[in-house]
Amino acid sequence: MDLRDWQIKLKDKVLNSLKRGFLVALNSPTGSGKTLFSLVVGTELKGKVAYIVRTHNEYYPVYRESKRLEKSFSFLVSKALACPFSTADVNPEDIKCSSCDVFSSIPIKVDDYPFSFLSKLKKEGEEEGFCPYYSLLDSLSNSDVIVLTYPYFFIPRLREALGLDFSQYVVVVDEAHNLDRLNELEERKLNITIIDRAISQISNTTVIEMLRRLKEEVKKKALSEEKYILVQDYPKLTDDELEIIKEEYETLREKMIKEKRIKQIYLNNIIKFYETEGKVFSYKGSLVKKPITPEKYISILNDPSLSVILMSGTLQSKEFLRNVLGMTRQIEYIDTEKEMKKKLSGTIDCILALDVTSAYSLRTKEMWKKYASYILKIFYQAKGYVLAVFPSYSLMNEVMKLVNLPKLVEDEKTSLEDVYKLKEKSIIAAVARGKLSEGIELTKDGKSLISDVVLVGIPYPAVDDYLKLQAEEISKITGQDVKDLLINTTALIAVKQAIGRAIRSVNDRANVWLLDKRYDSIMWKTKINCLNPKKIKL
Ligand code: SF4
Repeated sequence: MDLRDWQIKLKDKVLNSLKRGFLVALNSPTGSGKTLFSLVVGTELKGKVAYIVRTHNEYYPVYRESKRLEKSFSFLVSKALACPFSTADVNPEDIKCSSCDVFSSIPIKVDDYPFSFLSKLKKEGEEEGFCPYYSLLDSLSNSDVIVLTYPYFFIPRLREALGLDFSQYVVVVDEAHNLDRLNELEERKLNITIIDRAISQISNTTVIEMLRRLKEEVKKKALSEEKYILVQDYPKLTDDELEIIKEEYETLREKMIKEKRIKQIYLNNIIKFYETEGKVFSYKGSLVKKPITPEKYISILNDPSLSVILMSGTLQSKEFLRNVLGMTRQIEYIDTEKEMKKKLSGTIDCILALDVTSAYSLRTKEMWKKYASYILKIFYQAKGYVLAVFPSYSLMNEVMKLVNLPKLVEDEKTSLEDVYKLKEKSIIAAVARGKLSEGIELTKDGKSLISDVVLVGIPYPAVDDYLKLQAEEISKITGQDVKDLLINTTALIAVKQAIGRAIRSVNDRANVWLLDKRYDSIMWKTKINCLNPKKIKL
């Protein structure tokens, strides 16, 4: 196996750190070969690698590299995707397997790209009468390399249900800059649409009456603002009411499995909202319940019996891993570009605009017009797609309604597929920390098709009730004042992620437009490698 110079140089260092019980944090740019590297290290150390990814898009490179290394491979997806009788949007709990007549598994060998393999398996499962989900689950223990999404590793009850001994694996956590958002894994929402849909699925008049009353109360508490507002006195259900709702839910579950047509049962969204622990906030027309910090999910990484590699192209600092995420283990932090004293990623040319800002006090119609003019200019000089990243949906909508060009403006329903369907040069307007700004990969023959990345303002997170409570909670655990670290690191990672969308390999070159005068600081210029930007005004 031909390894790159950094992979050869750092392999022993990583192996030794893992042997000494250190957690390895590997910061290395996109396209530098982290996947192959971690598989080589993992299989050499323990023979088995559990690769933990954020989205299903990341299954493919792990499969490809496992095949190159001639290692057996398997993966798991949720029942919602693996069950031949369900639609993809169901909650896995909606599927009542104990009443299913094909509740059995067969031995399988994954010999095709994961999602091609899954469609064949589902078809065969339905025709031949076996369960694709349980067959995949059973195959995990016989494979050298397995891929799971974050919930299966970080949510304790799901991890335990796998029945795997993770101390037998090297656990590789990909896109580990997302660890600070693990508490979102069990975030629950309640809003008018969910309640209406639940009502439309049932005929029990007592439950319908109950839900109508709940709907009126939710309407009053769920505010439209795009920031988290703590709701102390949120609408409640009594234990008896919840029990009646659960009975109705069970009746629907039973009915759907009998008919072999399983759809999302919205009553479960309501049950889950009340059964999950966490604080309740109002956010963009919904009530949102979630734990304040990711501590409960992250603590597994401090288990000394596990060999762990955290990997990302935009990993937070060691200080952040310790003080915000609460890592107590010894950490070997490796920045591959620093270790190698050379760039392992592509090149960026920075342009900094000095006459615009997204600072709250200066958010005016005039400012939106200036931003729209910049986007217009950038679009006409761009050689490829233009990715414009905004701090919030509201700011994005204000600016983009003034931009009359081919464009795709992200909303909650936009998927990565919508981007891949774009035929002509367009502006892709995305919100920071969203699906697009952290997920799109537009390449052809290994080269990025995004020629320009526009940072419209600085994507600082809103200093809302959620962020304040989070900072307070973390300070209680670590004894550190982390509010500024939390705000600045969150913005920095969002900016680096956006830039990373255009730099997918060492041969890529992109323009990075920093449209906010606050980028003209040593901190920002150093951290994003734009030491000598060209400065411009409209
Ligand atoms: S096929 Fe049957 S056992 Fe398998 S996930 Fe679907 S309902 Fe459950």
